[in-house]
Amino acid sequence: MDSRIYFDHAATTPLDPRVRQAMDQFLNGSYGNPSSMHAAGREAHAAIDEARADVAALVGAHPGEIVFTASGTEADNLALRGVLEGQGAGDHFITTAFEHPAVIETAKYLERLGVEVTYLPVGDDGVVSTASLASALRAHTRLVSIMTANNVVGTIQQVHELAELTHRHGALFHTDAVQAAGKVPLDVSRTPIDLLSLSAHKLHGPKGVGALYVRSGVHLRPIIFGGGQERGLRSATENVAGIVGFGRAAHIARSEMGAETARLVGLRERLYDGIAATIPNAYFIGDRYRRLPGHLCLGFAGQEGEAVKLLLKLDEQGIAVSSGSACSANHAGEPSYALTAMGLDPIRARGSLRITLGRGSTQKEVDRFLEALAPTVQSLQTVASHSGFASRS
Ligand code: PLP
Repeated sequence: MDSRIYFDHAATTPLDPRVRQAMDQFLNGSYGNPSSMHAAGREAHAAIDEARADVAALVGAHPGEIVFTASGTEADNLALRGVLEGQGAGDHFITTAFEHPAVIETAKYLERLGVEVTYLPVGDDGVVSTASLASALRAHTRLVSIMTANNVVGTIQQVHELAELTHRHGALFHTDAVQAAGKVPLDVSRTPIDLLSLSAHKLHGPKGVGALYVRSGVHLRPIIFGGGQERGLRSATENVAGIVGFGRAAHIARSEMGAETARLVGLRERLYDGIAATIPNAYFIGDRYRRLPGHLCLGFAGQEGEAVKLLLKLDEQGIAVSSGSACSANHAGEPSYALTAMGLDPIRARGSLRITLGRGSTQKEVDRFLEALAPTVQSLQTVASHSGFASRS
């Protein structure tokens, strides 16, 4: 019924119909407050318990180590502020220069409170080296936060090595796994991660639900105070339908991950080869293989100033992609700081296109996209050369 192509799954994903079905009972009919002692309350409580077990299983955690939040952003805030806020000045925190704003802006807030923050550089392949972390760690480093997969470029970090190194120095390790969860295996029982952030809407679950994995024994201060839900770490009446949807989405992602990853890698490589073969000035950003299965980030040499125009021209044809990061829509037209952190010059960092595939993406869509992209890029080249903006490639 829908001829539109949605290749912006890093921004958000459509709700899986199976998730919607699971949520339905708690949107229509089952309305109990999970803290209530009567049958309706117990029913809601039991549904949250089941969802907690499913979300825990996705990352190899125990259910009691999952704290539900209202977003990935809140999970990041709880992790960083929960460890560092109120500790007094002088603590050291290490993160990277290309984290999501949920981490970067929280780091800046902590700096204002007197926490010393080191922003690690990122290689031009989009990977943070263990050597740079090793040289930044100090005796008073309390927390390191490095994302599992980057939302703009799609590259995957060496989380196991980074977490082990952090632990050898006696600090805690947090990873923002919002983009990675459900797409790459995560296992906190094998990797010494203390805190890990998740968000349901990136894995075909509902918007407005997230979770923080908190390793048993790790002490966090709450950032929201009230009735003491979620072990006192996240007071507020739970979003029961949202949490149920998150649980179902996590369950589906875990059981289908193997086959889905292989399928998406195949589609991504088809896209990569097709673009490389038909658009001579295309260049790809970040390591080719150490990346999320359905994620490509690219630019067109000499046409970086046209990225927004390109996006809108594709949109006219019913194709949704993203320029840089949709999360930074408030900063449209500015270079992506995530890409400048990788050493890309500001012109290239302004002109990138992000193409992200997901569960509904098909080979037919990839082929239709490839047919549309080359002439659209070409049409902008023609306009640019006629208006005197010659290609610089
Ligand atoms: N972290 C990363 C890496 C993200 O990509 C996003 C959303 O784009 C978030 C955190 C924030 O998640 P939410 O939209 O649930 O607040």
